[in-house]
Amino acid sequence: MVAEQLRPHGVTDERVLEAMASVPREEFLAPRMRRHAYEDRALAIDCGQTISQPLVVALMTQAASPQPADIALEVGTGSGYAAAVLSRLCRKVITIEREPALAEQASQTLVVALMTQASSPQPDDIALEVGTGSGYAAAVLSRLCRKVITIEREPALAEQASQTLRRLGFENVEVAVGDGSQGWPSEAPYNVILVAAAAGSVPQALIDQLADGGRMVIPVAVSAHEPQDLRVYLRRGADVLYRSLFPVLFVPLRTG
Ligand code: SAH
Repeated sequence: MVAEQLRPHGVTDERVLEAMASVPREEFLAPRMRRHAYEDRALAIDCGQTISQPLVVALMTQAASPQPADIALEVGTGSGYAAAVLSRLCRKVITIEREPALAEQASQTLVVALMTQASSPQPDDIALEVGTGSGYAAAVLSRLCRKVITIEREPALAEQASQTLRRLGFENVEVAVGDGSQGWPSEAPYNVILVAAAAGSVPQALIDQLADGGRMVIPVAVSAHEPQDLRVYLRRGADVLYRSLFPVLFVPLRTG
């Protein structure tokens, strides 16, 4: 993409070229569109909208000369792809989308990336995810640690995710069916725990299954009228401390 589409057509800023090379464009597309991700054209996304052609994103970004300390506003998030490119080049990006479904989808992609980063996964770690859903977050996490166990309470979702993961060759992910608020004691303790559904309070079983030095990222529903608080809990011996990351909106963690 960089050598064939961008450089010959006037994208010369090395930082912009690096940002374009580092953002996986396929992640911003529906699975059936992914094989077209690097073609030199705009592609359809949901709500009858499009993800811009790579060259257009690169030229617009370059023309705006984003600097590392800058704050940027983008109007029209769409897939979130251009915002992701821009975010590599400045301090903060605020992006506005009028279609709620698109805004929701784009922010989910970003939230997976930020949650994964907050849990600092290491190559020898064993990780537990609660709420497999599609299996996407488990797939991302599995690239960063030794083994991932992911629990889903809906058997149909667990089955589908497990098939997807197997088909794509993610061999270090195990999908289990059950109530993830109880954790998965047989492989505990875990260095990383990611919870993809919001709890009113952090389940004690998950705290108990967090290894010394382990990190748990979990959305906590502090009150019915406020967004949930995404937190990272850190265990140091018998002490468990947390810090708040940012407000989020996840489906509820259903227990029992
Ligand atoms: N990580 C997922 C998104 C998960 S959405 C992905 O990458 O696609 C949250 C999921 O949590 C839903 O699939 C829901 O069925 C599941 N869930 C809710 N409560 C749960 C519980 N107690 N145990 C396990 N899964 C739960």
